[in-house]
Amino acid sequence: MAKYDRNFTDELRERLSIVDIVGRKVPLVKKGQNYWGCCPFHNEKTPSFSVNEDKGFYHCFGCGEHGDIISFVMKSENVDFRTAITELSAQAGLKMPDYKPKPAEQVEKENTYFQIMESACDIYQKKLYEQDGSIALEYIKKRGFSDEMIKKYRIGYAPKNNIITNKFVNIKQDNLLATGMCRRGDFGLYDFFKDKLMFPIFNAHDKVVAFSGRSLDGSEPKYINTTDTELFHKRKTIFGFNFARDAIHRANRSIIVEGQIDAIQMQCHGFPETVAPLGTALTEDHITILCKSNRNLVFCFDGDAAGQKAAARACDIVMPFLRDTSEVKFAFVTGGKDPDEILKTSGESAMHKIIDSAIPIVDFLWNLANAGFTVSTPGGRTRAEKFLKQKIDKITDLDLRSEYEHEYDSRKFNAWHKWKKSSQKVQKIDLPQIDDITKNTIVFIVNTYPEIAERYGDFLANLNIDFESPVPEMNMDEKSAEKYVVSLKLQKYIEYLQKEKKDLTLKLLSGEENTKSKIIEIEEKILDAQQKIDTLISI
Ligand SMILES: [Zn+2]
Repeated sequence: MAKYDRNFTDELRERLSIVDIVGRKVPLVKKGQNYWGCCPFHNEKTPSFSVNEDKGFYHCFGCGEHGDIISFVMKSENVDFRTAITELSAQAGLKMPDYKPKPAEQVEKENTYFQIMESACDIYQKKLYEQDGSIALEYIKKRGFSDEMIKKYRIGYAPKNNIITNKFVNIKQDNLLATGMCRRGDFGLYDFFKDKLMFPIFNAHDKVVAFSGRSLDGSEPKYINTTDTELFHKRKTIFGFNFARDAIHRANRSIIVEGQIDAIQMQCHGFPETVAPLGTALTEDHITILCKSNRNLVFCFDGDAAGQKAAARACDIVMPFLRDTSEVKFAFVTGGKDPDEILKTSGESAMHKIIDSAIPIVDFLWNLANAGFTVSTPGGRTRAEKFLKQKIDKITDLDLRSEYEHEYDSRKFNAWHKWKKSSQKVQKIDLPQIDDITKNTIVFIVNTYPEIAERYGDFLANLNIDFESPVPEMNMDEKSAEKYVVSLKLQKYIEYLQKEKKDLTLKLLSGEENTKSKIIEIEEKILDAQQKIDTLISI
């Protein structure tokens, strides 16, 4: 993005009204503090797109689009920053300022840093094939790296001494420190990486911006990375992205694995669209970078507890990025292996099987809820439900969110409320038979309004109805449906009480005096139920 004087863009924002700019494309109506209209960035019939005149921004509560006049022009007209600015300055009657490149001083500084990183990478690469690099070389070869791969990924070895500090004596110490390659101690500078297998980390233009060093003596942590510098921001850098970018476009998906060795092995063995976050933590920035190409992501984690946890975390981060076109899936490598080992022991086809059998996020979340809570108990179900809701609420596309809600409602109904199925043993009360019309109505209600079915599940289960039978077409709204069920319940209850009353009366006639009070009690209950039905009908 071209750099313009901040004052200029601020002046544009000040001079132009966002309501005018947006209003030319979207009919807006003022309601309360904000203007509202139908979002131009997603398809909707009821306005959820708001524009705040004072603050100068728009926000869509439906799809999450958000921005100012400049981003509105960029997005709605599909033009770049410069074109948007040009157009807006014409409207504001302002003269376009000249393009302002990065200050020469800054460029020079960054070039120095790049040179240091590049030379360091060279030094490490050479060291790997020298005597002191032999253990590192042996290790990386054992992990299945060919010389060709070592060369392509520029893997190297940082020796035990201060090789960088010593080789760069002519470089200003501040510059060395700024690259993160050296640190200052009591006795002067010393190397940050020592006795490590070195993986360079590249930016999008294939320039080395940082390193990830793997310990070779089994010491923890296994990996240390360059700390954040002017060239390198860990949260915003994905390992292997520079190699994978084109493949991500071609394959129309990204595969995200946990470790960088896994990423390299995947890239070299049939999955060039693979990347890995640096360290284990995946960030929103990583997803943002990947989503610029497409929103199809396959996460591939270890099948162990740590992998499951990482997957759950990835879920949290990815939910706001979901769109109706995105395909997000989770694959798990089981048997204590990682993708690297699978490729080595069972080959590409085994890995293909794992990736192909990845579960969609909607199923993955469902599995998490079922595995994480005791869904056979009401308390467990409640917590599982809360868990699901919490995840779904992160989806910013409201249409999609409501589809997820429906999906889980029906799954909860089918899987958790097994009373519907005849196999379930519900304590049955002998209810009087019901006619076919009633049966059909109930089948309709149960299949159309799962919430009602859940609420009156115990009663409905006692009706001996086959709920899997074809659903009749009916016109009955949810409120009427509930009324229907409640009055049926009361009616059946009355019939049940009447039968009991009859039995007791027979007993009374045959001399069982103590049944008298019971009969009175039942009569009161019948009256009570009758009154309830009357009230229900009158509402
Ligand atoms: Zn929208």
